[in-house]
Amino acid sequence: MMPVLFVGHGSPMNAIEDNEITRGWREISKTFDKPVAILCISAHWYTDRTRILSSSEPRTIHDFYGFPRELHAVQYPAKGEPTLVAEVEKLLGSSVSRDDSWGLDHGSWSVLVHMYPESDVPVVQLSIDAGASTRQLYEIGTLLRPLREQGVLILGSGNVVHNLTLMDMSNPEGYTWAVEFDDHVRTHVCTHEHDQVLHYEQAGPCAGRAFRTREHFDPLLVVLGASHPSDPVHVFNRKFFAGSVSMTSYRIG
Ligand code: ZN
Repeated sequence: MMPVLFVGHGSPMNAIEDNEITRGWREISKTFDKPVAILCISAHWYTDRTRILSSSEPRTIHDFYGFPRELHAVQYPAKGEPTLVAEVEKLLGSSVSRDDSWGLDHGSWSVLVHMYPESDVPVVQLSIDAGASTRQLYEIGTLLRPLREQGVLILGSGNVVHNLTLMDMSNPEGYTWAVEFDDHVRTHVCTHEHDQVLHYEQAGPCAGRAFRTREHFDPLLVVLGASHPSDPVHVFNRKFFAGSVSMTSYRIG
């Protein structure tokens, strides 16, 4: 059975860099069989209700500004997968609708260019319903769990701590509150105490600083929902970027 992954993606520049984070992505992809397809839940597709990209040839979109031309030139020509789209529709029912106004965004491709550089695994992107509660997102993950038995990799791409207002490029270690929140989440992910993650605000004041909006945190909730209590948890890329972005990533299963 396929594991589920949550990956901290951080700066879009990771797409064109070779660093300890991107090497972590490359290495993790070698620890399990190549999936038949990837269902990617990206922090950067935050919509009214849940949408799914159904294109058989999804375009690469560059959903950022002010980065080098080299980054804007990146293409990730993975195919879509109509069978997977139909399967997700079957599992989620009328709560999901097709939307090809979007494409593969950098939450997906900045990671996938490292995990599957040949872009030879089909990718379907699923949006995050901005109006959903943490519990509802978790339940979406639970509904998606059977995909793992079909060789599909469920990949959440976001960041557990993501506060761009408080970024400090001279702080590679992480603010104390950022480390505290990241550790709180990690402890409960590792022990499968998912209620503690869904009620993350109970972590105390550090939770109030971890993010201003939830979109980078939410992909983790879908991934946890798709995990099983008996799945082993492997933590990787436990690093910080600019003090207030945690790169902590999980392979579960
Ligand atoms: Zn992001």
